[in-house]
Amino acid sequence: MNSEGFIDLRSDTVTEPSKAMRSAMSAAAVGDDVYGEDPTVNKLQALLAEMTGMERGLFMPSGTQSNLVALISHCARGDEYIVGQQAHTYKYEGGGAAVLGGIQPQPLEFNEQGGLDLDAVQAAIKPLDHHFARTRLLCLENTMQGKVLPLAYLNEAVQFTKRQRLGLHLDGARAFNAAVASGVSIDQLVAGFDSVSICLSKGLGAPVGSVLLGSKDFIESAHRWRKITGGGLRQAGILAAGGLYALSHNVERLAADHERAKLLAANLRDLGFDVEPVQTNMLFVQSGAHDPKQLCKKLLEQGIKVSVASRLRLVTHLDIDDADIAKVTAVFRQISG
Ligand SMILES: *Cc1c(COP(=O)(O)O)cnc(C)c1O
Repeated sequence: MNSEGFIDLRSDTVTEPSKAMRSAMSAAAVGDDVYGEDPTVNKLQALLAEMTGMERGLFMPSGTQSNLVALISHCARGDEYIVGQQAHTYKYEGGGAAVLGGIQPQPLEFNEQGGLDLDAVQAAIKPLDHHFARTRLLCLENTMQGKVLPLAYLNEAVQFTKRQRLGLHLDGARAFNAAVASGVSIDQLVAGFDSVSICLSKGLGAPVGSVLLGSKDFIESAHRWRKITGGGLRQAGILAAGGLYALSHNVERLAADHERAKLLAANLRDLGFDVEPVQTNMLFVQSGAHDPKQLCKKLLEQGIKVSVASRLRLVTHLDIDDADIAKVTAVFRQISG
């Protein structure tokens, strides 16, 4: 439950920084990060680079900006990236790569597992011919709507892009959810990717921030694009301290969010709802005989917020406990009864 008394399941972005996180933030040592002199930002970047096995990290104000800067660093004007039709980096970032980078997206349908079939990717690569944009990059997402991409698939994608001489970017907004759920370490999950963007402000519970990771050269280019896109921050250590706190306290506990999501899914199935299989912290619920918007409204009247489109999306996180799961189950029972 949040400080206003709502059980907010719309997203894991709604978490409020804990007292302990806030005190770590207020005590942070700071400097001017545009000069590269903020010790807390530098510590966060180095820590996440070490954890992921990437050469360098770069603190970014948001995941959207982190992905944008990655795309612009990989692709020039007139280049193209291959991406999922429902991918955040294509559908939910305002078309930024095209607007600001002159980069053309080539969207493809995701498969059942949340990946892009590599045969389909191969078929979408444009020939080197002046009629076509130059295909430069494959962009994957992990987790993708709560699904964990299988390690074998990730390894194939790495080999495939090397053979095809494409770059490989991971929108790893929830990469730690994938690592915790699969028991695969974060460095193994991202091994072979040229760049990875990780959000600190989702299930990890920090109020602000993402980190973009890659080689030394890549991050040098990204640093320039971060400045150009207005993302150079000054005493950002206050924000980075929230991220550092999250990395040392809130990674392993993601398993509890996953357990609660699975428990809630089982409860809702018992009530007759059609719930898609749950792997991490997201549940997708078909509203069945109920109108999804009406269902959403009835939940809100009982203090429960969910996201709604053709189906309901419920996301568990740090501010959702066992009592909240029991309450949500009870309200669904009452509504459907
Ligand atoms: C949240 C999210 C992002 C970045 O979002 P911001 O709100 O800009 O931090 C990127 N990709 C995915 C898959 C996300 O869920």
